[in-house]
Amino acid sequence: MAFDIEMIKEVYARIPSRIAAARKVVGKPLTLTEKILYAHLTEGAASQAFKRGTSYVDFQPDRVAMQDATAQMALLQFMQAGRSQVAVPSTVHCDHLIQAEIGADKDLSKAKDKNKEVYDFLASVSNKYGIGFWKPGAGIIHQVVLENYAFPGGMMIGTDSHTPNAGGLGMIAIGVGGADACDVMAGLPWELKFPKLIGVKLTGKMSGWTSAKDVILKVAGILTVKGGTGAIVEYFGEGARSLSATGKGTICNMGAEIGATTSIFGYDEKSAAYLSGTGRSDIATLANGIAEHLTGDAEVYANPEQYFDQVIEINLSELEPHVNGPFTPDLAWPISKFAAAVRENGWPAKLDVGLIGSCTNSSYEDISRAASLAQQAVDKKLVAKSEYTITPGSEQVRFTVARDGFLDTFDKMGGVVLANACGPCIGQWARHGAEKQEKNSIITSFNRNFAKRADGNPNTHAFVASPEIVTALAIAGDLTFNPLTDTLTNSEGNQVRLDEPRGLELPTKGFAVEDAGYQAPAEDGSTVQVLVSPTSDRLQLLDSFAAWEGVDLKGLKLLIKAKGKCTTDHISMAGPWLKYRGHLDNISNNMLIGAVNAFNDATNSVKNQLTGEYGEVPATQRAYKAAGIGSIVVGDENYGEGSSREHAAMEPRFLGVRAILVKSFARIHETNLKKQGMLALTFANPADYDLIQENDVIDINGLTTFAPGKPLEVVFHHADGTSHTVLANHTYNEGQIEWFKAGSALNLIKAAKV
Ligand code: SF4
Repeated sequence: MAFDIEMIKEVYARIPSRIAAARKVVGKPLTLTEKILYAHLTEGAASQAFKRGTSYVDFQPDRVAMQDATAQMALLQFMQAGRSQVAVPSTVHCDHLIQAEIGADKDLSKAKDKNKEVYDFLASVSNKYGIGFWKPGAGIIHQVVLENYAFPGGMMIGTDSHTPNAGGLGMIAIGVGGADACDVMAGLPWELKFPKLIGVKLTGKMSGWTSAKDVILKVAGILTVKGGTGAIVEYFGEGARSLSATGKGTICNMGAEIGATTSIFGYDEKSAAYLSGTGRSDIATLANGIAEHLTGDAEVYANPEQYFDQVIEINLSELEPHVNGPFTPDLAWPISKFAAAVRENGWPAKLDVGLIGSCTNSSYEDISRAASLAQQAVDKKLVAKSEYTITPGSEQVRFTVARDGFLDTFDKMGGVVLANACGPCIGQWARHGAEKQEKNSIITSFNRNFAKRADGNPNTHAFVASPEIVTALAIAGDLTFNPLTDTLTNSEGNQVRLDEPRGLELPTKGFAVEDAGYQAPAEDGSTVQVLVSPTSDRLQLLDSFAAWEGVDLKGLKLLIKAKGKCTTDHISMAGPWLKYRGHLDNISNNMLIGAVNAFNDATNSVKNQLTGEYGEVPATQRAYKAAGIGSIVVGDENYGEGSSREHAAMEPRFLGVRAILVKSFARIHETNLKKQGMLALTFANPADYDLIQENDVIDINGLTTFAPGKPLEVVFHHADGTSHTVLANHTYNEGQIEWFKAGSALNLIKAAKV
């Protein structure tokens, strides 16, 4: 049920010949990253893309994975593509919408009730289109993918930023927006800029309190939250081979925290052991057959400086456990220096809660090592001073660690097991008292610790560490405790020391599970009905956007001239709006409410040219729409930077904005606008931005001869009767112009059945 061996055979058959072809053209040894990328170029792209650089090239991923929050719009769009089945194996994972409050069972049943319409929709749409569906409680997307779908040498996209977790098993796995997932499920290629390469050489071997988490906490300290931007991080060396597959997954997962496109490890004995341990020895056998292609060339690893854009070396034998934070994951402290940092910075030393688990650190190895400390607390008569929670990453892990007694051990220490879901990691945490906004400290084995992320309290100082360190500090209840050197006073008044944690990479009795929570799709989904209530305020089926009317656009109103930074968050805010991700009409009420109006420096206040009154941006645009009048949005530099959220392009399209004219675009947003049938234009002369006045009426000319490389003409008719005519550049190619004409890329896909 869980993996597609035929697909993997096909990929493995392609890898050697693709790599041989690339080697001939490139004429030098290859990194692992290059090998896998070359093996996944589309046929058309393969001939021209065997070079690194700035070019965007087309790839053909093997899999798509979606989490429930982002899957909603991805699948609503996919329904518009006119396909009867997804073109590549795809899965949906219900993990983000379960709120942690009391404990696993009660929280899960509450979530099933509260999110019923979303789950019913996702289950039915998955059933219809051949998508594997992982029910609420089945686990967190990245852990479930690692256990069931990730395979060495594969390529996957996922609608979640921690998709790179699968790099621990040698897969190029990249987080994308829903529109990209929709395209790949419809059988279209996926475009990626050929990345820079960062090599991380791991020497030595870890021992004692140090774990894989400390590698990435150290790397985050070196590279900072921006240092991996536009790069794939490739780990290698004897130290890399000594890490378990799940430990490697932890490192790749948190590569998102340095902004990396993804991270990857080569195939080795540990990968084979994990594949076999998770019931996939047939994949291990296949991988063994092409093992030389599933790692970088020996020459590359011998002289990495010649082949990577940047090289970092870390000696695992000397690596200390780290604690990173607060408020950012790149503020890295070796444990020996952490207590002093806590005191010097006045961070609350009292630790209120320790939380282990999440997609980052919930492997059997993580839980068994943390449990060894919990057992010591019980044996040595230590009473845990902090609250302590455990979030298993999957039902398979939960069932197995329960069978092996670890959950009982946590229970004896006072720990609370939460549902197999994101919970506090994504802010789904009904933390009692958080609303008082008191200054306090928590420590987690999660990946992100930005202000307010876990409990909404801006004064919660959140730190990140390995599950072992989290557990030790939770026992101590004190951030200044160093378990490597310090003692604790037990209930009998004796000084006791915690011994080094011990654990197992894989369960000796094997993994077990009664009900993994998987629902296979119908063989023939043609008669399956997708469940969406017409009265729902969280879900709404999409209607196709109208095709271009075939004439130039005249008489458009200026909706807003946005000033300064305008990210996808300014265009489509998150927070409370997230619950409307599956309802385009409702979420459109957040359109551009964060953008600053250049004429009054206010947010969400623009002049309605029909009434002369100032009003909210969405309401003003709805008034234009109701009057049958189009509009344009004008913006500054790098418009649409930030997350790849497709809502930021869909909302203006839905509400009747016809063009976005800016000084420059963030590229992903520009592409998203094109896909939705919008005009994404840039000023040929950026200074023309200053010519636009608040009461302008605008024409866009040249659309009947719209062609690649040919600017369009934009006329600003000012209220005083004068006008300015300026040139607007664009980056539409022939195919993208067809998207515009058809009304959207999906309309074209549907019509052409390509
Ligand atoms: S556990 Fe946290 S990081 Fe992982 S998928 Fe869920 S929200 Fe994202």
